[in-house]
Amino acid sequence: MLTIGAFAKACRLSPKALRLYDELGLLPPARVDPDTGYRYYALAQLERARLVAWLRRLGMPLARIREVCELHAHDPAAAGREIRAHWARVEADTAARRDLAAFLVDHLTATPRKDTTMLELRYSAHSDRGRVRPANQDTAYAGARLLAVADGFGTAGGPASSAAVEALKFLETEEVAAGSVLNLLEDAVRGATEAVHDIAEGTEEVGTTLTALLWTGSRLALVHIGDSRAYLVRGGELFRITHDHTVVQSLLDEGRLTPEEATSHPQPALLLKALTGGAAAGPDLRLHDAHPGDRYLLCSDGLSAVVPDDRIRDLLTASPDPDQAVRSLIGAANDAGGPDNVSCVVADLVEAAGA
Ligand code: MG
Repeated sequence: MLTIGAFAKACRLSPKALRLYDELGLLPPARVDPDTGYRYYALAQLERARLVAWLRRLGMPLARIREVCELHAHDPAAAGREIRAHWARVEADTAARRDLAAFLVDHLTATPRKDTTMLELRYSAHSDRGRVRPANQDTAYAGARLLAVADGFGTAGGPASSAAVEALKFLETEEVAAGSVLNLLEDAVRGATEAVHDIAEGTEEVGTTLTALLWTGSRLALVHIGDSRAYLVRGGELFRITHDHTVVQSLLDEGRLTPEEATSHPQPALLLKALTGGAAAGPDLRLHDAHPGDRYLLCSDGLSAVVPDDRIRDLLTASPDPDQAVRSLIGAANDAGGPDNVSCVVADLVEAAGA
């Protein structure tokens, strides 16, 4: 038997920490002297104590450490898997914070272009059932300030996509004062998340993607979750400005799949993130510099899954106005079999009339 002091020295935990872990049931001493209350530890407890110390250094919460220690007692491999799962969550959380930090830096340091003050959006939006699906679960919307596409899934996919877009529509009328963009986006994201959560009634099987652009008068703020996409045509070139939150995209990012293999993946639309009835996942937020003459496209995967990027670029650059562009893009998806609902929003950034 070791005294608490000797045991503390051996496992590199302080006596104070050992008393706390005793109270939490994480590491009870082998024996407590009934008269003095002194705690004594067995040598065999050192391994568990060292595991606790290592897990503390990982930043694992005490409640989870207890779970890992209990798993470790009968199945060390299961404890290993639990640590790996914990670390995957930490990394996902860090990645989300890194994106948020980049957004904030961008918001605070970038000076808006002066020549954007007299610009406005010309826009068109349409959503089509396609040729195969029995119903349309997509929602597309375009207004003077807000452009949005949402692709719902599950039994209440249609209501979910429409609720998400509906929750953003206050942005059309809300005054976008300089410096209030963050508040507005926060309200918008929370509103859309709650609206979908209510409809999905606690299941991750029901939800929606959401890709939206808000014109602030000088820049475009992007809100994006899922595998709907935003593209930009500038100088005759097509740029994709969103990143798909799909399993396939993450395998591509990690180099575990080649682009050729990705095109034949059996579940190309399996989503990593979406607005659902399950745990809240944060959308990507970004500020995007706008140039006069820019043409933006938001679309659901009903377009991008069947019409290749170079064809999308050709149709966008050949169309004289957003209406025509939307019609030809949706036509191209249906000509390619129309296997899914297809939604397109096209908007041009142009000199304001009378400016
Ligand atoms: Mg779809």
